Amino acid sequence: MAWVHDTGYAPAYEHTGYPVSILLDGTETASSSARTAAEAIGWRSACDCGWRGMQFYPRSEWPSASGIASDDVDGWESGTATFAEWQRHLARALPELAVHDLARQLAEIEERLQAAVHAARFAGLSWSRLRAVTSRATAGSVRLRGMADEQARVTSRSGRLDLAPQAGLGGPSPS
Ligand SMILES: [Zn+2]
Repeated sequence: MAWVHDTGYAPAYEHTGYPVSILLDGTETASSSARTAAEAIGWRSACDCGWRGMQFYPRSEWPSASGIASDDVDGWESGTATFAEWQRHLARALPELAVHDLARQLAEIEERLQAAVHAARFAGLSWSRLRAVTSRATAGSVRLRGMADEQARVTSRSGRLDLAPQAGLGGPSPS
C-alpha cells in the first residue's frame, strides 16, 4: 500500500510512502512487482523523495506468503512499523505540515462554530449569553465573529447596549 498525506498541502504530495521490498542481492523493488513474491527477503520504509527508513523488517520474522509486506509491516491501520517511520520522516521533511493541518482544522471548526452561533442567535439567544458560554468553554480565547459589528450597530441605534432581538432580524422572540 502507498501512503499519501492528503490534507491539501501541495509539498506533502511529493512524499508518497510505501514499504519497499528488499531482494536478496540488496536491491529494492515495488511491492507490486512480479519479482517480489519469490525474492523479497524483507522490507524497509520508503518515500518517493528518496528517503529510506533505518529499520529492516526481515521476511523470516514477518512471514508473507505473497511477498507483499503484511499489515504488521505496513502499519497503516495501526499507525506503527514502516508507516510510522514514514510519518516521522514527513514531519522532519515538512515541519510546517502540522501547522498547516491544525490551521486547516481550526478554520473548519470556526466555520462550524459560526454556523452554530448563527443558529443560536436565530433561536433568540443574546450575544452576552453566547459570549458567556464561549468564554466559559475556552477561557476567553475565542472571539465570536460578527459580535462586535452587531453590538456596535445595536449600540448606535439605541444609544445603549440593547441585546434584545431587533425588528426585522428574522429571529423569533424569546419567550
Ligand atoms: Zn519523502
